[in-house]
Amino acid sequence: MIKRVIDYLTELFPNPEPELKYENDFQLLVAVILSAQCTDKRVNQVTEQLFKKYPDSFSFEKLSQQDLEKMIFSTGFYHNKAKNILALCKILNTQYNGKVPHSPDELEKLPGVGRKTANVVSSALFGANRLGVDTHVFRVTNRIGLVNAKTPLEVEKQWNKKYPDFINHDTHFRLVLFGRYFCKAQKPNCENCKIKNICKYYNTKE
Ligand code: SF4
Repeated sequence: MIKRVIDYLTELFPNPEPELKYENDFQLLVAVILSAQCTDKRVNQVTEQLFKKYPDSFSFEKLSQQDLEKMIFSTGFYHNKAKNILALCKILNTQYNGKVPHSPDELEKLPGVGRKTANVVSSALFGANRLGVDTHVFRVTNRIGLVNAKTPLEVEKQWNKKYPDFINHDTHFRLVLFGRYFCKAQKPNCENCKIKNICKYYNTKE
């Protein structure tokens, strides 16, 4: 079953790329933090200006909390996001010489970096064997019946156990794109879906 699903996702999205725009590791980390409860499109609009003036963690130290809040306002939760990003920059600059740590466990200790962000960033940048489970990955994998999970962490654990050979950043991005454009939350495109005969949701809906 997993092979059929992955083959189909690969057919639909042969070269999956993150939709967030970035030019270095630090920018991807910040963009993923900003993308919480916000669309990638909006984040890209905000970061285009932000990263032009402040391309790395050292330049972010010139920003006051108020300045940063103003610049990221439209991404929502701007107060906490700004506070966390500035605290994160201080740690990166003092402990990691401005570099983003490779290990998902180290990443997760940084302010504002949850498990999903740590997994997405470490697998996209450093090839870590971790599946980032966002709302799309959670919904799609449960719907198809690849997992039967109530929380993102459960999804991740079940993947680790059942499909360890299929965990990589391409899988993550393909699942996200499939959820965003095909197997949408409200109107999944079941009639045109080539895996409907093995999909739990399709075969059990009334
Ligand atoms: S059949 Fe429908 S619910 Fe199942 S994977 Fe395809 S689009 Fe999603």
